[in-house]
Amino acid sequence: MIRLGPAGSPLKSTLDGIRYLKKINLDAMEVEFTYGVRMKNELAKKIGELAEKLEIKLSVHAPYYINLASKDKEKIEASKKRILDSCERAHYLKASHVVFHSGFYGELDKEKCYNTIKKGITEIQDEIKSKKLKTKLAPETTGKTSQFGSLNELLRMRDETKCNVCIDFAHLHARDGEINYSDVFNQLQDLKHIHSHFSGIEFSEKGEKRHLVMEKKDFILLAREILKRNIDITIICESPVTWKDSLEMKRIIDELKNEKNNN
Ligand SMILES: [Zn+2]
Repeated sequence: MIRLGPAGSPLKSTLDGIRYLKKINLDAMEVEFTYGVRMKNELAKKIGELAEKLEIKLSVHAPYYINLASKDKEKIEASKKRILDSCERAHYLKASHVVFHSGFYGELDKEKCYNTIKKGITEIQDEIKSKKLKTKLAPETTGKTSQFGSLNELLRMRDETKCNVCIDFAHLHARDGEINYSDVFNQLQDLKHIHSHFSGIEFSEKGEKRHLVMEKKDFILLAREILKRNIDITIICESPVTWKDSLEMKRIIDELKNEKNNN
């Protein structure tokens, strides 16, 4: 199954936003805690119940200001708290993935950075377990070469800590300067379900500069590979026109399916 939907609610009230997504036939949404986790658990619960009833799959994006590899212990603890607060809301939202950007290499070499972040992730997982929260951490593939989060690093993290992952295709494209979807999906073969992000992207040799409105030709490459392999995937759109591009993705997928059926 392919689920599509925006990063963030299309309307000011998240409850109204979810009803609207149902109306326009989208079936996923990422609740964004970009600048802080301010939603009350009570509201999260209401949103979770409505989304379940309307069959909209929810995920959560933790705040951007997170660095599990900081030199400063206090910053690591503050990052862990932001992720854990997001997990608590995710539990009430019945959201399976708590997406976050893990941190920066800074002065650490890549192996040391990996181990520092792994320690943070394992400690948060222990808290999730002891609080009986029903959700999983999903570190995201990141777009800048200064950020931890290449596909290899995240797949290793998944193997070693059993976390989920979030595959941001635009970030992989920006990080490596190119993207070959066949190669990427070959590496994702053990994942039963793929949680992903897509948008257009502007980048330099240092990676991501900013997210852009999606280009049809870019999405077609991804969509063809998904259909060819019959992949079970959620694609959250992070372009500046989130839900409109989600609808565009839906149109493109339907077009490709019709093309296939007519051949
Ligand atoms: Zn993303």
